[in-house]
Amino acid sequence: MTDAPKFKDLKAPAEGQRITFKDGEPIVPDNPVIPYIEGDGTGRDIWKASVRVFDAAIKKAYGGKRKVHWFEVYAGEKANEKYSTWLPDDTLEAIKYFGVAIKGPLTTPVGGGIRSLNVALRQLLDLYSCQRPVRYFEGVPSPMKDPKDVNIIIFRENTEDVYSGIEWKADTPEAKKVIEALNAVLAGDPSTKGKKLPEGAGIGIKPVTKFKSQRHMRRAMRYAIKHNIPDVAIIHKGNIMKYTEGAFRDWCYELATTEFRDHVVTEDELWSKHDGKMPAGKILVKDRIADSAFQQILLRPAEYRMLVTMNLNGDYLSDAAAAQVGGLGIAPGANIGDNAAVFEATHGTAPKYADKNVINPGAVVLSGAMMFEWMGWTEARDLVYKGLQGAIRAKTVTYDFERQIPGATKLGTAEFGDAMIGQM
Ligand code: NAP
Repeated sequence: MTDAPKFKDLKAPAEGQRITFKDGEPIVPDNPVIPYIEGDGTGRDIWKASVRVFDAAIKKAYGGKRKVHWFEVYAGEKANEKYSTWLPDDTLEAIKYFGVAIKGPLTTPVGGGIRSLNVALRQLLDLYSCQRPVRYFEGVPSPMKDPKDVNIIIFRENTEDVYSGIEWKADTPEAKKVIEALNAVLAGDPSTKGKKLPEGAGIGIKPVTKFKSQRHMRRAMRYAIKHNIPDVAIIHKGNIMKYTEGAFRDWCYELATTEFRDHVVTEDELWSKHDGKMPAGKILVKDRIADSAFQQILLRPAEYRMLVTMNLNGDYLSDAAAAQVGGLGIAPGANIGDNAAVFEATHGTAPKYADKNVINPGAVVLSGAMMFEWMGWTEARDLVYKGLQGAIRAKTVTYDFERQIPGATKLGTAEFGDAMIGQM
């Protein structure tokens, strides 16, 4: 790797190659270097177990033909201890160069500086699509009557909306200036019918652009086509917020019915052109108001396979959907851009369980399965699923499931890793 960046403190593995990209899709060698961030708190136990599961799946799937060269990079408390910074430049450079990373949970530093390391990574690497698959594993405790009907992937836009970080605290000089300027606009616009912003309001801005909405929808549509997903629901509150949420809905429809015209039928067309009968091999593109989507995924989960959302709606919906089929311990996620991807558990560091060898590593293990899928290593992905499913079916599980499954055997984090490997 003659063009590898010169890291300040890190040393990349001597062997292995980088993942490169074409049209936003990865080109993966048989021996990729994959940077990993172990994570804070329970991240240490979780990573040790997870990496053994990954290596076992790769070895079983490919013999010696494929191999990952793991490369430890630092963020969070470990980075702060070693280098006195929560997010070293070396880490960002390594992920940019190698095109990928997998990470455990990170403590959000309290006080000034970075708001959240996870948000910082997403923004600095332009990882614009967050993907969270929510599927049922047989035997997982669930409050649903038919949890097997839940099989939804949520595509959440990661860079815009009220999460863009443009905010002013009430009564600051900046907030006052923004209010003054906006009141001047309101006064000159008769369509706003005399509306006025109150003094002393805190202000948050909700930017939504066509470019960012459509690149996200494009990624969702490509995924739906590749994975034979029969329906895609655009989620929004466009009935109330017409020029942000409503525009998101319109731009998503526009993209689906232009760039992917041959693949899609909209819900309107289903009735106006196809008499309510879905033509074979096509994807139904529909939209739902966000609040009704919460009801629908509970009451009729089988009718939803992919939700395409903006940032805030996606945040809420992802956790609500994950709670239906096992919750945080097995909720994986991916943040994907055109030149890099970061795979991560969605739970936090659960500090009270740190270094006690008790926590469920399932979310990082499943994030690894997502990474293998993104890499095109589907045989390794399937073995990870098989291992996890087998261990749960055998009722050999960590404390969080054991307390809910009658007759289950409680295993530590490392032993649950062994159980998964044994079930492959
Ligand atoms: P948390 O770490 O997610 O833990 C909350 C509870 O969720 C735990 O006490 C545990 O419940 C359950 N849980 C979490 N992970 C689990 C796992 N792997 N297996 C089984 N159960 C699990 O949330 P938090 O306590 O609010 O946050 C702690 C720190 O993590 C904060 O610094 C926060 O900012 C950070 N955080 C990081 C990320 C990230 O890096 N992606 C995400 C969220 C929060 P029981 O006690 O009932 O067993």
